[in-house]
Amino acid sequence: MVKVGIPRALVYYEYYPMWKAFFEYLGVEVVVSGPTTQEVVAAGSSRVVAETCLPAKVFCGQVLSLSNQCDYMFIPSIRSLQEDSYNCSKFLGLPDMVKAVVPECPPILDIDIEIPRGKKELYLNIWNLGRHFTWNPLKVRRAVEVALKAYRNYRRLMWEEKLMPPQAIDKLEGKACEVRRAEGEVEVALLGHPYSLYDEYVNHRLIRRLEALGARVLTPEMVPEDELEQQALRLTGRHYWTYEHEVSGAGGYYLERGVDGIIGVMPFGCGPDSLMMDLIKHEARRRGKVPFMLLSFDEHTAEAGLITRLEAFMDMIKFRKRAWGRAA
Ligand code: SF4
Repeated sequence: MVKVGIPRALVYYEYYPMWKAFFEYLGVEVVVSGPTTQEVVAAGSSRVVAETCLPAKVFCGQVLSLSNQCDYMFIPSIRSLQEDSYNCSKFLGLPDMVKAVVPECPPILDIDIEIPRGKKELYLNIWNLGRHFTWNPLKVRRAVEVALKAYRNYRRLMWEEKLMPPQAIDKLEGKACEVRRAEGEVEVALLGHPYSLYDEYVNHRLIRRLEALGARVLTPEMVPEDELEQQALRLTGRHYWTYEHEVSGAGGYYLERGVDGIIGVMPFGCGPDSLMMDLIKHEARRRGKVPFMLLSFDEHTAEAGLITRLEAFMDMIKFRKRAWGRAA
């Protein structure tokens, strides 16, 4: 059976169940790289310039770790999901970057996704992807339907059952799903992209640490998409970047809903995130009710410093809640 590799990085956490359903319907075996490790980061970092953001380094490292396990590597270029808003340059050029820096990568399946260009172009791109495995357009069409159904089911698990992406993926795959519903003393909302929040090597097991300190952790995926959309538009006036709602939309939503604290999680050197995090920081300060802390990560982030900051933040919001109750 033909094998297609999917690196466990960047938009893996957004779309993996959808891609898996698509390829499997076409009779392809899907192989996913393992969790990020020090070796993966070191391998990825050795192929790109030092200024590259950590998630892109992780992506290259994950591609390297999969290279001898599959016949094709699936690397979509997700350019734009909405009119007048684009992804950052790393996403736009992802297949080309991998071709340039990972010459041992198997042939790349590199579909362009640019929704504003219309359905016709999107379907043509999907057909070009599917015809690697079948000449039957009806089969590709059916694979798309199956994939969309899997995607809707995935999102539903996050909105309705409040699962995080790794838990939802485990549940869809019938694995024992580790659902930790900590009845935390305080509610802490995390803002950031899934590749920042759910890669436990990159963020030093941030969610587990917060839960161990008594937090019930809320994330952007737990907010319905229309709410994210409205809040992002309310705060920024228009969309600037694809996926920015994971920061600005979720930030606006949790500021309005009320939580005991908000933590922004950002890869060091990320241009789009630094602007959006700054916006949320100012909005939190303007409203003066919800404490906000920004954590930025790179491959040199020291665990001890992170733990100290988390403990101090948690102590402060617990004290605040006991003294004044929840601010909303
Ligand atoms: S949005 Fe930021 S962190 Fe994500 S790939 Fe682009 S530069 Fe890197």
